[in-house]
Amino acid sequence: MENLLSFEILEKTFNELSHGVGIFHIDDLNDLKSIRYVYMNKIILYEMRKNRDEVFGKRIIEVAPEAYQHEGGIKVIETYRDVAATGKDMDLGLVEYSNHMVAGIYYCSVHHIQDNYVYVMLKNVTELEQTKSELEQKNEELQQFASVVAHDLKSPVNSIYGLSQLIQNKLDERGNKILKTIIQSTQRMRIMIDDLLDYSRIGYQKEMTKVNCNNLLENVQEDLSIEINKSQAIIEVRDLPTIMAYITELRLLFQNLIANAIKFQQPGTTPKIEISAEEKGGWTFTVKDNGIGISDKHKDKIFNIFQRLHLESAFKGSGIGLAHCKKIVELHKGKIWFESIPDEGSSFYFNIPTTK
Ligand code: ADP
Repeated sequence: MENLLSFEILEKTFNELSHGVGIFHIDDLNDLKSIRYVYMNKIILYEMRKNRDEVFGKRIIEVAPEAYQHEGGIKVIETYRDVAATGKDMDLGLVEYSNHMVAGIYYCSVHHIQDNYVYVMLKNVTELEQTKSELEQKNEELQQFASVVAHDLKSPVNSIYGLSQLIQNKLDERGNKILKTIIQSTQRMRIMIDDLLDYSRIGYQKEMTKVNCNNLLENVQEDLSIEINKSQAIIEVRDLPTIMAYITELRLLFQNLIANAIKFQQPGTTPKIEISAEEKGGWTFTVKDNGIGISDKHKDKIFNIFQRLHLESAFKGSGIGLAHCKKIVELHKGKIWFESIPDEGSSFYFNIPTTK
């Protein structure tokens, strides 16, 4: 059979790749300075700001001696040697690299080819990482903004509320009726402001800890004891895992879901709630109820802030509970969703990926 493969074809292919690819040879496994560039594709040559003649066949120490002078460089060089010695590929994750011409963050992995040949694959993610950190900063600013606004709104609303109460029953019938509505509205506004403040506070606790979810659920049930006793709710908690999580937030998450499961019940029915967990790509938790259910058409809406499907008179609440839940699950880098049959019940699911 005719051999169609040529060096030219291979090289063209390598140069078209979206990643930097470079082949190295370690002449002597006991000497880190004996590592040579065998081949570098266009992207790596660009990152090095060098041309092929300056690099191919040369030692790293001759071409880029600065690599031996900083942590990022040494880590990569040692990895070339280790991969050649063990034959095991290694994922280095994010590596910072700089010389007098380039400085950046690279996603980098090293793979064994054969004998003392290894290849590196890298992608420059400097811009991505910068955008990420800018986004995080903007997010933090936004949270602070929400918190300050909510905090500052509180005092005028409180004084309207207080003053309205002072003149309650001192007006004529029509005046009193209007005043009652004003008081109810300010009361609602106070609750919403408090909810907003809570929302902006989610994620302030920076450390994840080991959380025994069965113990956590006992505490949540204590906190909800008034609602549980009043509704005679039957709560079954299955065997739950111990996971790495933000404990205060996780507690609030379960509390909101269980409180909803108790609240959104058909009159005359005893709430039956089941809480379970299954291990698949982290842990997926389920809070299942036998309540009024949610129609499919509201699927995208209910996790939005202050979004409610019912009149305040039917079921009390401000509509921020599930927005809290979503924010908390996303803080853990997970997802939240539900399945429901109207008039039969709903199951809320959320997953918490395993943290290393
Ligand atoms: P709130 O409970 O204050 O109304 P949430 O954000 O917790 O706000 O919930 C938003 C809406 O989603 C609720 O008003 C309700 O219509 C619906 N909902 C939430 N949980 C359930 C549930 N377990 N069963 C039926 N409907 C629910």
